[in-house]
Amino acid sequence: MDNPLLQLEGLPPFSLIQPEHVEPAIDQLLSECRSGTEQLLDSNQEFSWINLVEPLEILDDRLSRAWSPVSHMNSVVNSEPLRAAYNACLPKLSEYSTEMGQNERLFNAYKYIREHDPNLDQAQQKSLDNALLDFKLSGVDLPAEKKARFKEISQELSQLGSKFSENLLDATHAWSKLVSDEGELAGLPQSALDLARQTAEQRGEQGWLLTLEFPSYFPVLTYADNRELRHEMYEAYTTRASDLGPDAGKWDNSEIMEQLLNLRHEQAQLLDFDNYAERSLARKMARSGQEVMEFLHDLAARSSKQARAELAELEQFTSEQYGMEQLEAWDIGYYSERLRQHRYSITQEELKPYFPETRVIPGMFDVVGRLYGMQISEINDIDCWHPDVRFYEIRGRDGELRGQFYLDLYARPQKRGGAWMDECASRFVTHQHTQIPVAYLTCNFSPPVGDKPALFTHDEVETLFHEFGHGLHHMLTRIDYPSVSGISGVEWDAVELPSQFMENWCWEREALDLISGHYESGEPIPDEMYQRMTAAKNFQSGMQMVRQLEFAIFDMRIHQEFTPEQGGRIYEILEQVRSEVAVIQPPEFNRFAHGFSHIFGGGYAAGYYSYKWAEVLSADAFSLFEKNGIFDQNTGDSFLHNILEQGGSKNAMDLFVAFRGREPEIDALLRHCGIAADATPRVC
Ligand SMILES: [Zn+2]
Repeated sequence: MDNPLLQLEGLPPFSLIQPEHVEPAIDQLLSECRSGTEQLLDSNQEFSWINLVEPLEILDDRLSRAWSPVSHMNSVVNSEPLRAAYNACLPKLSEYSTEMGQNERLFNAYKYIREHDPNLDQAQQKSLDNALLDFKLSGVDLPAEKKARFKEISQELSQLGSKFSENLLDATHAWSKLVSDEGELAGLPQSALDLARQTAEQRGEQGWLLTLEFPSYFPVLTYADNRELRHEMYEAYTTRASDLGPDAGKWDNSEIMEQLLNLRHEQAQLLDFDNYAERSLARKMARSGQEVMEFLHDLAARSSKQARAELAELEQFTSEQYGMEQLEAWDIGYYSERLRQHRYSITQEELKPYFPETRVIPGMFDVVGRLYGMQISEINDIDCWHPDVRFYEIRGRDGELRGQFYLDLYARPQKRGGAWMDECASRFVTHQHTQIPVAYLTCNFSPPVGDKPALFTHDEVETLFHEFGHGLHHMLTRIDYPSVSGISGVEWDAVELPSQFMENWCWEREALDLISGHYESGEPIPDEMYQRMTAAKNFQSGMQMVRQLEFAIFDMRIHQEFTPEQGGRIYEILEQVRSEVAVIQPPEFNRFAHGFSHIFGGGYAAGYYSYKWAEVLSADAFSLFEKNGIFDQNTGDSFLHNILEQGGSKNAMDLFVAFRGREPEIDALLRHCGIAADATPRVC
């Protein structure tokens, strides 16, 4: 019992967790889950929530809480031994999950409870409805042979997804470029130069070290005058984990992607779906693939004219100002930034001194305090996985502890790119005890350089608000059952509502004053700078919109159109989608799909459209704050009570209507993006 992963009281003891603890702990908990389930099924004649579902949720919760730090550390402090231990557990967990999903006795017991238990509340009913659907989606109704095949596929899928992410991480870290002549880096802002110098020093090198981590890659593509350098890094970045580029074939995801599509298709067909896209939509707010595609094409039709006009403007600008006739993919970001400066004389760099971490973090907490009456404070001396990580707790107006979270802000080697929120513990209340929700908030922002505080771009601040919105959804829930508390059980295409919703506060003067202030003088963002910043807000919003639509349509189509005979046709379909909706055609060598981890290594397969879908909801929800005031207490309380606290206990549409008083309309989104809405609002 000295395995730290089995100490399931309180927070995970991160400093004690070693790779050799992982498999024994998971083996033991899986075996307890299995025998516990059998015992519960054997010892009862008449099943109820209290005698079956609750004790099962307790068993599952123990397993989740032990696995959560393992999976989290695998993402943020990856190492060979940890990776091996993590991967050794994936098939076991997948096997267990399918086994439970295919357990007919359990299925019948749940059906019985749903029909006969007289004491079920709304959240319990919803939890059981979800569970019954999940049984079907796990193949509970299938004949034995197909059940076995289903299970095999689930295991392979979880391993392939993990391998996809590993390849991408390895390929990202394999590439770097040491620059010894500062002249080659002309145009780069001082912060990017400082970071490159610090990175070189940390690796014992002289000069400036560039990497494919986002805080290094992005400034080069945006600011470096050296076109060859931009080209070189663009090629390295967009060919990661593929058959092309500087590390061609070394971590090639091609075969994995084909296999993933193939197996997803086969599994969907076992369940009698036409394709994996239909399977994916079975648990979403959207009703059919057709509805999703119509939604995406409708948005494309509304934005493509503006996107084309924006590109034409960029081409005219570069031709007039720089004599450039042919813009390559590695020129777009650079000249777009020039055009933005020309038109609005504003840069991300210029804003950075106003967003020191020391203002942004407490300011964001202040925003949440005003909106929902929550108090957030840091707790010291908590055992974490890295010295940069901090830990906080959230309390309500009455001092009640609502949730806790870890905050891991900076990019570093061995940490997966991007930003995300993940669950450490879920809210879970039984007669015996109350478990407080705990979240991990992970970002990959520029670290502090020298003794300055970390200075964030406004984009980074927006990302932070986004992830914090997910975190609040997880932590402020009032639902007592982990299967439908927080983001659990929420339809995936509605899960981005609270996150995208929070981003709006990054643009409002009243909120900005809380989260910004010059890191040296403490002065607020000058008014004229704020004017320029908001004027530039929708710069190239049409181009950004069609880019997201390109990804979303591509994701739907490769899952809808897969056939075993023809295979994935991944780049063929991507080409078609691009010629239909994109305004920028990337070069032949671009291997975007090989790094599209949302759909190949994460949970967004045939679900990437969720970002746009939920953006309609979040923009429309925010429009009520625009009407009533962005810190209006009643509106804040209503969002808290009707959406954040409800988790997955009701359908997302019902929750939205309870808050907004009607179904969602698309025009708020278009207005926020500066894209003209036409007369007929479309309900989604
Ligand atoms: Zn999100």
